[in-house]
Amino acid sequence: MNISERVKKDCCGCSACMNSCPRDCIKMTPDKDGFLYPEVCEVLCVECNKCVKVCPVLNEDTPANKPKAYLVKNRNKELRKTSTSGGFFAAAAKYVLSEGGVVFGVGFDDNFNVRHSYIENIKDIKKFNRSKYVQSEVGHNYRKVKEFLRDGRKVLFSGTPCQVEALLNYLGEDPDDLYTMDIICKGVPSPKFWKKYLSWHKKKSGKDIREVRFREKTYGYGSTTMRVVYSDGTEYDEPYDVDPMLQFYSKEMISRPSCYDCKSKGKHRRSSFTAGDYWYVSGAAPRMDDGIGVSQVLVNNEKAAAAFEEIKKYLDVEPLDFDKDSAINGGMMVTSAKPNPRREEMYADLDNMSMGALQRKYFPATFKLKNRIKRKIRPVMYNMGLLKIYKKSMRKRQSTKSSKR
Ligand SMILES: Cc1cc2nc3c(=O)[nH]c(=O)nc-3n(C[C@H](O)[C@H](O)[C@H](O)COP(=O)(O)OP(=O)(O)OC[C@H]3O[C@@H](n4cnc5c(N)ncnc54)[C@H](O)[C@@H]3O)c2cc1C
Repeated sequence: MNISERVKKDCCGCSACMNSCPRDCIKMTPDKDGFLYPEVCEVLCVECNKCVKVCPVLNEDTPANKPKAYLVKNRNKELRKTSTSGGFFAAAAKYVLSEGGVVFGVGFDDNFNVRHSYIENIKDIKKFNRSKYVQSEVGHNYRKVKEFLRDGRKVLFSGTPCQVEALLNYLGEDPDDLYTMDIICKGVPSPKFWKKYLSWHKKKSGKDIREVRFREKTYGYGSTTMRVVYSDGTEYDEPYDVDPMLQFYSKEMISRPSCYDCKSKGKHRRSSFTAGDYWYVSGAAPRMDDGIGVSQVLVNNEKAAAAFEEIKKYLDVEPLDFDKDSAINGGMMVTSAKPNPRREEMYADLDNMSMGALQRKYFPATFKLKNRIKRKIRPVMYNMGLLKIYKKSMRKRQSTKSSKR
């Protein structure tokens, strides 16, 4: 493998190198699949090596901490409904903002590009609520974090594990006023695929897009649904095995190459908090299972533990056994997903085929009558309370299967 093939495979696109360059000679440029990679202006480069020193891929570092694990639900039910899992992020953000701090997270810009930015008011937390299953553009936000810390403000930075490691490497320390929240992360799809998906919606509906909700909870927490609200208020609402964005993502066709061998995964992390879903809530803590969502949270160090005591006032909390309970849900915490064998073929087709044609080629079963009927009866099953029971039994079957393996 030559150097450029290595970079294509390993670089996680975190932008630490761009932020660290004292001569501003690194910019992040999309490759043919739409993922950002650093491009160095060799005329300006003085080979100071700062970019190499901050790279989270070249400088792997696993702390020897013993995290404390919890299941949490935000006490504000409405906020929990608009959060992906249990609304831990919103609680942590509220704590930092109420201390006069600043919160960095991932939201949409006016054109639905997925970007990091920051907020300073509690009323803006919703901008960052919900997972966006697309790689975010970090821009120069690590530099902004440094400026706010220098001004004596508390900062919460949330992002993927590689982005949090990138920030800590860029700062060269974990300052007292900085809190970081990384997510349990399966992988990040390409912004180019995302743009194509948005254009498909506009073409299909003849309307502009007003809102996108990746994991709408209309049919409950366990029933992953893509909701797109159009400019006239009408809605598109499809499950993960019908909606092309969720379908290509869940079948491991569109994540970044480095996500399939992620260097930032693990049960021991440098972040303050790690947040993810928890699918086994009915077994581990039945009282927390109300179908609206719970977050599994790892509190990774003493600084985080002190803040968690404050954040708790916004949460309903149930301790988990880190080694036992976290482990059963720990797949994506420690293990990278395997790429679909047809991933390369799909990206080769991306420029030449419409979204509909791609879906027909790679997922022909989506269009079968049996699946159409399944989609139609989903709302009926939900209203009768049967969908939750069905999902629970499927999950139980899956976990028995994987424990037998
Ligand atoms: C790309 C991606 C993959 C994930 N994969 C898994 C998984 O395999 N298993 C699992 O248990 N959990 C996974 N999660 C985490 C989970 O979906 C929730 O984000 C997490 O549980 C926090 O939910 P919440 O209810 O506390 O807050 P929410 O309000 O849902 O949290 C939103 C937070 O996520 C951040 N965020 C949103 N989109 C992105 C993005 N594109 N990149 C970086 N940060 C983002 C926001 O800044 C905000 O802090 C993933 C999340 C993302 C974004």
